[in-house]
Amino acid sequence: MGVERLPPLGRRLLEAARVRGEAMAGLLEELAALESPSDVPESQVPVQGRLAESLRRLGFHVRRLPGRTRGGVLLALPGPDWGENAPRQLLLGHSDTVWPSGTAASVMPIRREGGRLLGPGVFDMKAGLVLMVFALEILRDLDLPPAVAPVVLVNSDEEVGSPESAPVIRRWARRVERVYVLEPASGPDGALKTARKGVARYRVEVRGRSAHAGLEPEKGASAVLALASLIQEIHALGEPAEGTTLNVGVVGGGSRANVVPGEAWALVDVRFATEETGRAIHRRLRGLRTSVPGTSVVVHRESLVPPLEPTPRNRALWEAARVAARDLGLRLGEAAVGGGSDGNLTSRYTATLDGLGAVGGGAHAVHEFVELASLPERAALLARLLLLPPWQARTPGSGNGAGPLPPEPGPPGDPPPAAPGAKAGPAPCKGGQR
Ligand SMILES: [Zn+2]
Repeated sequence: MGVERLPPLGRRLLEAARVRGEAMAGLLEELAALESPSDVPESQVPVQGRLAESLRRLGFHVRRLPGRTRGGVLLALPGPDWGENAPRQLLLGHSDTVWPSGTAASVMPIRREGGRLLGPGVFDMKAGLVLMVFALEILRDLDLPPAVAPVVLVNSDEEVGSPESAPVIRRWARRVERVYVLEPASGPDGALKTARKGVARYRVEVRGRSAHAGLEPEKGASAVLALASLIQEIHALGEPAEGTTLNVGVVGGGSRANVVPGEAWALVDVRFATEETGRAIHRRLRGLRTSVPGTSVVVHRESLVPPLEPTPRNRALWEAARVAARDLGLRLGEAAVGGGSDGNLTSRYTATLDGLGAVGGGAHAVHEFVELASLPERAALLARLLLLPPWQARTPGSGNGAGPLPPEPGPPGDPPPAAPGAKAGPAPCKGGQR
């Protein structure tokens, strides 16, 4: 559709975004050059500092919450021009990447090729950070203050599971009307991510009794043999058609070939689409028993990321976004992906829409790229979504005091109940982060 045939609001947003296309590409190159691996806390300072500078200029009060062992969180609160006391919406992103410092100088030089920008972290997700800045700039320059005041939160430990920033994200998710997550879009058409699987990691420990394998093997009880049959049982718990998969990814045990092994262990990755399934698998894993006399097993859950489910409030936000995107002549698609993001966390507390970042490909791969032509469109889309009124995503139980909050993540084996699941969900699709 030609811009001239769009509704006036869509036209203004798109035109304002298009004149900024080169500036967006320039900021993306700048941010990519400030390499920022999750495991080097001080590398987060320049990239977050550059963002802070832009956000201050746009009228935000910017703070950096230092990390303990990670790079900390950048938090930008709306100043007077943005409606300090209005209900709030959260723009969520991360400044860390999976690439070690020096990557840009070796295997992934930052460069433009045929309309693409390539380089470490450009797609996941420095382009998303660029979109945040420019969406806000467009709204300010067009004098279109959103009815729901934007808050920007950029953490720097997302790629390692947000161990330090999760409490901050959770706190903000409880306070806001809705969350827009600037993770990369899915596929070449820029589908939003409306469902992400949950991820749990388990350690399975088997105890047996060691003995000399030649002199008195009958006195031993092989933990390795017991584990071998447990591995079969664990894999059999999967229901791939329903999106439930279990992978025994690492195993160990025993000491020497001539010793009946007294211990063995395995690390298991579990992916599931609903909290209910996650709980059921948890119970089955904790209920595992060995079949080799003299052995026993203990199963520990080492980490848990709940799924981003198509809850009623998430569906309402997605519907509102889909309709609003038509103002820009965009037909938004949606995708369900296997990897988790911080959107999995916020979705428990408030309406969440993920995958609002750039269109591109190769996340976590050396050919990582962003389609530069997508940047203005995506910035205009984000600006349009920021203009949604406060009631759009409201359903009982949504954030900002509109209903009861779900409980905090519970003790092992007891995740909080999922919101009644809307069955009408997105089509399954490959890929994701983490
Ligand atoms: Zn990411």
